[in-house]
Amino acid sequence: MPKKINIPEPEVNLKFIDVHCHLPFPRPKKNDRLPSDEQQYQEFLNNGGIYLITSSIDNHTLELIQNFIKRKEKIGFTCGWAPQTVTYTPKSQYDIEWKKWVEYIQDNQEEYLAIGEIGLDFHHAKTLEKREQQVTELKKIFQLTKELNKPYVLHVRNAAEHEFDRDHPKHLYNKRDGATKEILSIIKEFTVNPKRIMWHCFSGPDEYGILLPKQGYTLSVPSSAYGINKWRRVIKQSPLNALVTETDSYYQHPYLRGPINVPLNVKYSIAAIAYTHNISQLEVSKITVENAIKFFNLEGKI
Ligand SMILES: [Zn+2]
Repeated sequence: MPKKINIPEPEVNLKFIDVHCHLPFPRPKKNDRLPSDEQQYQEFLNNGGIYLITSSIDNHTLELIQNFIKRKEKIGFTCGWAPQTVTYTPKSQYDIEWKKWVEYIQDNQEEYLAIGEIGLDFHHAKTLEKREQQVTELKKIFQLTKELNKPYVLHVRNAAEHEFDRDHPKHLYNKRDGATKEILSIIKEFTVNPKRIMWHCFSGPDEYGILLPKQGYTLSVPSSAYGINKWRRVIKQSPLNALVTETDSYYQHPYLRGPINVPLNVKYSIAAIAYTHNISQLEVSKITVENAIKFFNLEGKI
């Protein structure tokens, strides 16, 4: 049974943008409790959603998204090469897949809104070798794209204590902010303006909730912040003008476990921010929509 959450439910009549979800996404047929992709899109728009941004992580999801968004007006996408893609693509296919992605990125700039998700995930890469591989590939992405003048969407996940690489116990990547620190140094190395960078599903460490907005970064609050105390604590300190809202669906349900989230639940991000900042949900809805329009340059699409 889900725990009771003592935070007000999202109000009706809110307007919102989901700046990061995965629709469509390959999902196991067995036990699939989700409405169809089409239905999720319609329900989002019929209940206050004004624009939806989906995200590819590799060439396969890019293809799914291209087919899905054809003839749809209120949906755009960010084109990503996720750290998981770096770690899990079989060696024998990697170069071919990578080349294909690079060609797409360079030849179709008007098709996508941003580059991402890209980043570092030290939960999925548990050895130093695998972590270094993610770093190398991420640098290649920045090198290739920094002149395109596109925004970036980052996926950053630090190693938890049980995920330390025991062969290199003292290595920086094992630190609680090892991935965060590394990515900040890469951004500096490639002189990318923080104003062009959004941290998707921002979840800490705590001090970065204050630090990153001060440097000009945008932080995206997931719907699951509604149900996770620690994540709300992190966003509490972040100024509203740095925040946007996302679901990361079908992951990150507001209060249930499992991959069963839908874009409409982005209203729970609004409820979480309103609660932590002690202001009205309507106000949060207005500000986060404005922030998203500005960051992704959506003027004219809404
Ligand atoms: Zn995602």
